[in-house]
Amino acid sequence: MSIQSRPRTRPGERERFDPASYEGKWRERWERDELYLARDDDARQKHYLLTMYPYTSGDVHIGHWYAVTGPDIVARMRRMQGLNVMFPMGFDSFGLPAENAAIDRGIHPATWTDANIDRMRAQFRTTGCSFDWSREVITSDPEYYRCTQWLFEQLYKAGLAYKAMAAVDWCPKDQVVLAREQVEGADRHCWRCGTPVVKRDLEQWFFRTTAYADELLDFSGIDWPQPIRLMQTNWIGRSEGAEIDFPVEADGVEPIRVFTTRPDTIHGATFMVLAPEHPLVARLTAPVAASEVAAYVASARRETEIERMSAEREKTGVFIGSHAVNPMTDERIPIWIADYVLPGYGTGAIMAVPAHDERDHAFAAKYDLPIRYVVAPASGELPSGGAFMAHTADEVLVDSGKFTGMPAAEAIAAITQQLADNGLGSPAVTYRLRDWLVSRQRYWGAPIPVVYCEEHGLQLVPESELPVLLPEDVDFAPTGVSPLQSHERFLAATCPIDGGPARRETDTMDTFVDSAWYFLRYVSPHSELAWDPEKLRQWLPVDLYTGGAEHAVLHLMYSRFFVKALRDIGMLDFDEPFLALRNQGQILGADHQRMSKSRGNVANPDELVARYGSDAVRLFLMFIGPWDQGGPWSTTGIDGVHRFLGRVWHLAQDEPRTGRPAPTEVPGWPAQAMGGWVPGTEGPPVADVLGSVEDRELRLRRITHQTIAAVTQDYEAFRFNTGIAKLMELANGVAQARENGIAGSSAYGEAIDTLILLLAPSAPHIAEELWERRGKPYSVHQQAWPVADPSIASADVVELPVQVDGKLRDRLLVAPDTPAEEIERMALASERVQAYLQGRAPRRVVQIPGKLVNVVTPAQSEG
Ligand SMILES: [Zn+2]
Ligand SMILES: [Zn+2]
Repeated sequence: MSIQSRPRTRPGERERFDPASYEGKWRERWERDELYLARDDDARQKHYLLTMYPYTSGDVHIGHWYAVTGPDIVARMRRMQGLNVMFPMGFDSFGLPAENAAIDRGIHPATWTDANIDRMRAQFRTTGCSFDWSREVITSDPEYYRCTQWLFEQLYKAGLAYKAMAAVDWCPKDQVVLAREQVEGADRHCWRCGTPVVKRDLEQWFFRTTAYADELLDFSGIDWPQPIRLMQTNWIGRSEGAEIDFPVEADGVEPIRVFTTRPDTIHGATFMVLAPEHPLVARLTAPVAASEVAAYVASARRETEIERMSAEREKTGVFIGSHAVNPMTDERIPIWIADYVLPGYGTGAIMAVPAHDERDHAFAAKYDLPIRYVVAPASGELPSGGAFMAHTADEVLVDSGKFTGMPAAEAIAAITQQLADNGLGSPAVTYRLRDWLVSRQRYWGAPIPVVYCEEHGLQLVPESELPVLLPEDVDFAPTGVSPLQSHERFLAATCPIDGGPARRETDTMDTFVDSAWYFLRYVSPHSELAWDPEKLRQWLPVDLYTGGAEHAVLHLMYSRFFVKALRDIGMLDFDEPFLALRNQGQILGADHQRMSKSRGNVANPDELVARYGSDAVRLFLMFIGPWDQGGPWSTTGIDGVHRFLGRVWHLAQDEPRTGRPAPTEVPGWPAQAMGGWVPGTEGPPVADVLGSVEDRELRLRRITHQTIAAVTQDYEAFRFNTGIAKLMELANGVAQARENGIAGSSAYGEAIDTLILLLAPSAPHIAEELWERRGKPYSVHQQAWPVADPSIASADVVELPVQVDGKLRDRLLVAPDTPAEEIERMALASERVQAYLQGRAPRRVVQIPGKLVNVVTPAQSEG
C-alpha cells in the first residue's frame, strides 16, 4: 500500500498531537482488513483468550473498559508472539432488566435488548479492543437459545435435570425464584435488587450439580486464583463423618438420622435437637407440648438463616415431650427443637454434645441439660465452664465405655464401625452444595422445552421442533405473573407421543444457563449443532479467561459443572472450561462505592475518549494500579498519560538533533541531584562527561533490551501498570540519548521502534500511526514481538554520575554490587574531582546508591 501524503509541516514546526485525527481511521482499517479474525485453518498454535461477555445494560461504562483492556493487551501481544489468537465477544442478553424495561416503558424486551446491543457494540469499538466480532453470540437470539434448549434436553435425558417441589428463595420485588448462589449477604437479599428474600414451596427445575461436588473440589491442572478456588471450596462445603440413627420411643416412628463429623463424642450426646421444620416434629410432639411447639415453629420460619446461624444469638428452643435412645449408651435422651438447627444442612437434626460443641453447650447451660465430657487431652485437664473443642493429636476418650482410653482419631473409625455392625450408622460425607435451581417464572429467557400431556405426563419437545420460540405478542402488565402463563397460543402444545393436546411448560431458564456454555458457541456461532465438534477440538478449552471475581460461585462454578456433565454425556472430551483465570479488580465510583446508576457515580468514558482519545483512556486505566485490584475512579493523572503519549509522538517523528544538546534537565535523574548543572554551560566538554559515542549507544541498547524483557513479563503477568511505567522509562532513555547526541544512530532507531512495538498492545492507535509515519510496513500489530538479547540487557556495569558540590564533573563505570567505600575511593581518585579538591580532604561524600556520587568540598560548606 502507498503511504498517503499528508499536509507537510514547515521545518521547525511541530505537528500537533491530535489522537482524534487518526484513531477512528485505524479502527476502520483494522476492521476492513479483518486483522483480528481468528482463522480455523491456521497451522499456528491456537490461543483462546476470553473475557466475560457483558449483560446488555445499554451502556459500556468505565468498568467495562477496565475489564476488557487488560485481556486485549495480552491478546495483541500473543498475536505478535506468533499465536493464532481467538478473542471473541458477545452479549448476555436474556434477563430481568429487559423485562422490567418492558413493563415500565411499554417496549418489547427484544426491542430494548437489540437497541442496547447496537449501542454497546459501537461503544466497544471505540475501546480499540481487538475482538473478533465475526463470532459474536447473542443469547436471546433464537439461533442461540435453540441450542440452550437442546442442551437442557441432553441433561434431562442423562438424569441431570429434574423437576421437584422445594422450599425456594423468592424475591418479592422481582417476583421470581433465585438460586441459592443468587441470595447474598447476612440479611439474605436478592443479588439483583437487594430485597430480602422469602421462602416459598414451589415446583421447580433443577440441574444436578451435587453429582459433581467432589470433582468440583479438584482444581488440579488449572491455574486459578486462590480466592476463587477457596470460595468454590467453601461453597461446596464438603465434610466427612458419619450418619447415625437414633431410635425413638414413639411407636411406628422411624429413627432420627443425624450427621456428625465427631462420632467419637457420641457418649456425650445427652439430648437431640431437630430443626423446627424437620418432618418428624409433628409425629414426635407430645399432645401436652403441641401448642408451644406450633408457636415456636411458626416464629422460626420467619427468621432468616443467617440470624439462626449467628453464634452470638441467645439460644432458644422447646422440648417436644418425647425421647430418643443414644445407640451407644442406651440412655433415654430428650428431643428438642431449636432454630439454630437448619433444615437445609446435614439431615436437619443433630445429636447435641454440649461438652464438645459451643452452641450445644450454650443451649444445655440455658435449659439445664446434662453436660458430659467424653474426650480429654492427655493431661486430663478439661476447661471449666465451656465446651472442649481443641482437636489436638493427643486427645483420648474418657467416660466412653469400652472406648475409654482410645485416641480420639482412632475412635472415630472404631465407633462408626460398631454402629455400622449394629445397623445404626455408616461413614458419610455431606456437602453444603445444593442442586442448581434453574427455572424462572419470567418471560425473557429460554423457554424450558417441555410439554405436559394428561396421559403421558412430562415430555421433552422433539429436537426437530426446537426452538420453542418466545411469543412476541405478549402483554407485559405488571401482574407479577409471567405473561407466558396467560398466552393461550403458547400454552397449547401437542404431545409428541400421541399428537394429542398438551400444555406447554411456562418456566424459562436462569440466564446463568445461557452463560454456562456460551464459550463453546464461539467456535461455530452459526452452526446447526450447538458447536462444530471439529472446531471445538481445535479451540477448547479456553486458555485464559478474565472477568470479575463476583462470579466465583455462580457463572464460574456453573460453567465447570456444564463441561463435566457434557463430557460424561459424551459431547466433549475435556474436564475444565478455563485453564487459566485472572480476575480484574473493580473500578469504584469517586465516592469509593460500587458504580451504579442509582448512586449516580458511574463514570462516563465517552467524554474522556472525546477529549483524550482511546489510547489515553486505555493507558490511564491500566496505569492507575495493579489490574487485579481496581480502586476508586479519578481522572487525576490522565493528563500525565496524555503528555507521555505526546512525548512518544514527537520523539518518534522529530528529526534527529545535531550539535550540542540544548540545556535540559536529564530525565530520570532527580533535578536536585543535578545541582543545576546544565550540559555545555560549564565544566568539561559534554562528550567527555558522557563517555564515548559507543558507550552512549550501548547504554541506550541496554535500556531497550531490559525494557523488552521487563514489559513482556509484566504483560504476561497482567502487571500492566508496571509494564507501562517501564515504557515511560524507555521514553526517558530515548529523550536522554537524543540530548546526548546519538540521535540518528542505529541504537536510537532500535529504541524508538521497540518503544512503538511494546506500546502497540496498550495504545494500539498511536502505535499504528507512528509505525506508518516511520515508513514501516502495515500493520504494527502484525509485527513480530521484540525479543530481548540477554547479552545486551544484562546490567553488568552501572554508570554513576560524579558531582562535585552538586555539579556533574565525571562518570564512573562500576559493577552493580560495588561496595560504597570502593565507589567513594574511585570517586576521590578521579582526576577531575581531584582538580576541584585541590589536595584537600572532602568535607563529606554523599551517595544515592545506583544513582550518583556527590563530593562536597570544604570550601563550599564553609563558604
Ligand atoms: Zn430482586
Ligand atoms: Zn400424550
